[in-house]
Amino acid sequence: MEKIPIIRPTLPPVDKLMPKLQDAFTSGQITNARFVREFEEKAKEYLGVSNAIAISSCTNGLILVEKCLGLKGEVIVPSFTFCATAHSLVWNQIKPVFVDSERASCQIDPSRAELAITDNTSAILAVHIFGTPCDIESLQTIADRHGLKLIFDSAHGFGAVRRGRPLGGFGDAEVFSLSPTKLLVAGEGGLVATNDDELARKIRIGRDYGNPGDYNCEFIGLNARMSELHAILALETIDELDRNISRRNEIAAFYREKIDNIEGLSYQKVDSDDTSSYKDFSILVGDGFRLSRDSLASKLLNMGIETRPYFYPPVHKQNAYAYLDPGSFYLPEAEYLSERSLSIPLYSHMSDGEAERVILALEINSLG
Ligand SMILES: *Cc1c(COP(=O)(O)O)cnc(C)c1O
Repeated sequence: MEKIPIIRPTLPPVDKLMPKLQDAFTSGQITNARFVREFEEKAKEYLGVSNAIAISSCTNGLILVEKCLGLKGEVIVPSFTFCATAHSLVWNQIKPVFVDSERASCQIDPSRAELAITDNTSAILAVHIFGTPCDIESLQTIADRHGLKLIFDSAHGFGAVRRGRPLGGFGDAEVFSLSPTKLLVAGEGGLVATNDDELARKIRIGRDYGNPGDYNCEFIGLNARMSELHAILALETIDELDRNISRRNEIAAFYREKIDNIEGLSYQKVDSDDTSSYKDFSILVGDGFRLSRDSLASKLLNMGIETRPYFYPPVHKQNAYAYLDPGSFYLPEAEYLSERSLSIPLYSHMSDGEAERVILALEINSLG
């Protein structure tokens, strides 16, 4: 039987890209030109924000946002996330202060975030885990109360909706990823969305070395431009996004209904007013299940079903962060999530038959 991968990018037929690629090649403009502008316009409309700035990656977008907001000292961040969330801070000489997550939502716990604030805190960097909006309003209230910036690593979240509003316009800025494991695919790429025009101006300069146009650099920037080739692919995949999100939600609804009947397994809670992009569908393997998370993963693999323990290890326990004295962080929920969560296959062109095979395999492994 054919293997079911954890994720597979949903790509347009290459023929669809040819006319625009031909234009780019004919004009000789192959980076940060007409198609990048066109993509930025389209993304801006989609997200309903005043600025959308295409970047070479989400990681670089985060680095630039933090730099251009002038963040320093400490920034509060979850540990149950992808490593790049925290890496972006360290590239800016900022200390990541890891706080715990909530078990049901898998999201940063706002009350824990507030407790971690000190005189050195300059911002909260939250994440919309698995493409599900986090508790934005509580975080904004806390940020306002303490005079902090609030930014979102929205790598997973393009197309997700919080109480009727698309992600992208919340906090000081949101940063999306367009890499192949995400829904909106440019090959590699990122996008900064913000309603702060001055921040947007700086990011545009910052992605171009810090050069405002006269080579008299305003600050130390990066080369974080998006190429035209990447923008051409993004322009195609953004048109398919809504269809892909609804297909993922259809499969997720099927998964939820079936998993409700399997003892010991649970899944991320999504507020009933929200729409998740379902970048990932992650299950939690609890004590009531007869196998550990890792044994379940290897049984599934033997049945041709690929899974990933997103996110393991938690960031504060990774070798790169040993210098922060990981023992000083008390993060029981993040550690629980990290040890128990397992992302199961979900991609936009997954067939009903494939989703049924995933469920059947979970059901078989739940029986003695
Ligand atoms: C993928 C991912 C990133 C990094 O995105 P790139 O575009 O690869 O730089 C950052 N944060 C989270 C939560 C991610 O999943």
